[in-house]
Amino acid sequence: MSDWPSKAREFVDGIAISVAIVGRDERGELVVTACNNHFLQMTGGERADNQAFPIPFDTLIPDHVRLEFREKLQQCFASEGAQELEQAYDFRKDTQSWRLSLKPIRHANGGANVVEILVTGFDIAPKMHLTHEREVNASRYRAVVDSAYDAIVAIDQQHNITLFNRAAENLFGYTSAEVLGRPIETLLPEKFRAHHSRHVRQFADSPLTSLRQSTAPRMDESNSVYGQHRDGSIIPVEIAISKIDVDGVTEFTAVVRDITDRARQMELLKKQAVTDALTGLPNRREFLEFVDKVLGTDDVLSVFILDIDFFKKINDSYGHDIGDEVLRVLAKVGMSITHESNLFARWGGEEFVAALPGADADLVRRFAEELRQRIEQQDFEHAWHLKPIPFTVSIGVVTRAEGERDVDALMKRADRALYRAKKLGRNRVEVG
Ligand code: GH3
Ligand code: MG
Ligand code: MG
Repeated sequence: MSDWPSKAREFVDGIAISVAIVGRDERGELVVTACNNHFLQMTGGERADNQAFPIPFDTLIPDHVRLEFREKLQQCFASEGAQELEQAYDFRKDTQSWRLSLKPIRHANGGANVVEILVTGFDIAPKMHLTHEREVNASRYRAVVDSAYDAIVAIDQQHNITLFNRAAENLFGYTSAEVLGRPIETLLPEKFRAHHSRHVRQFADSPLTSLRQSTAPRMDESNSVYGQHRDGSIIPVEIAISKIDVDGVTEFTAVVRDITDRARQMELLKKQAVTDALTGLPNRREFLEFVDKVLGTDDVLSVFILDIDFFKKINDSYGHDIGDEVLRVLAKVGMSITHESNLFARWGGEEFVAALPGADADLVRRFAEELRQRIEQQDFEHAWHLKPIPFTVSIGVVTRAEGERDVDALMKRADRALYRAKKLGRNRVEVG
């Protein structure tokens, strides 16, 4: 079998695989007894017209792949079993990768039983290229996901975690291996777990493709988003969720950002907005909101307004700082005698107010009188800077009339009572 008939050659040349038959000559050297054009091209050669077979294996196969190829052929001859190998043929222009299958064939040649090897090769460059591209894409994707500042968590249709990047590991305290395949609820505080699946399904069915949620400034539970750390601590988060299509199946990715600092800052600002900086008491806004709320109900309510007598003189005689100290003392005393359900607040300047839900006219008058006396008699503990500063207060008291709802009208009445107390000589309580 030195050559193929031209019809057969035409046929094998037309196949998009390289084909060769390798035998051994009388000295036992490997020879290619037949091959198609693809095989020649694979080896970097070209078929000359009238190419004569057999061609010595060593002259046809390039140096850099020859040894490996020959060893495989020899194993194939020895074992008479099929072999496979992948080889990269480097040429100046480019490199081509081939998967070669070696299959022994036994046939009679002039009465003698001869074993030759049928070599078939597929060009696997396109596949290798694709695999390489896929690997590059995958590692690029992993690098981006892992270097992301925000936690990234993906879930599948069953709401089980499929992706958990490094920032997510830091945020939630789990390693990715620990949570992959586990339900997303693992990362939620207990009280949000039950309804979470429903929310995800609603989002899945909605026309929205992305959703942004965060812990609202008012810490309103219905708008808040919280995660739960492995150690059980609750983490306020901002979260952006996207629907993604993975092979026709809808999955979800969430970018999760820890906003503990922001939430804390927000709480602080919220507190500052309703707190008087000098005394630490609730401010006028907080007081009005409180009273307004009670006026919205039919509950009994009394309020009073208190003004320090001749406060300007205190400032003038002792200085503004001592004046401030007097204001803080008054705040302390007022706080110490009001109950939890009451609110003692700074109205502004040297004026203070109290709201006493449930207190009738008699009770609030007695309460105001007690406060007035304590201040007059300095019946409180305070380490004065130099010597105790004597001061007195005037108080105007009112009780809500039935059906009275207007906070401004109520405070005006109290103010009038206070004015009367001042007019009648100060250091006294007047009921309006
Ligand atoms: P009256 O008995 O009529 O209330 O006399 P008064 O001097 O207390 O009344 P007035 O309202 O004329 O004076 C209040 C003073 O309080 C004026 C202002 O300088 C002072 N004041 C207001 N806010 C502060 C503060 O935060 N710190 C200090 N030290 N003084 C303040
Ligand atoms: Mg005043
Ligand atoms: Mg005053």
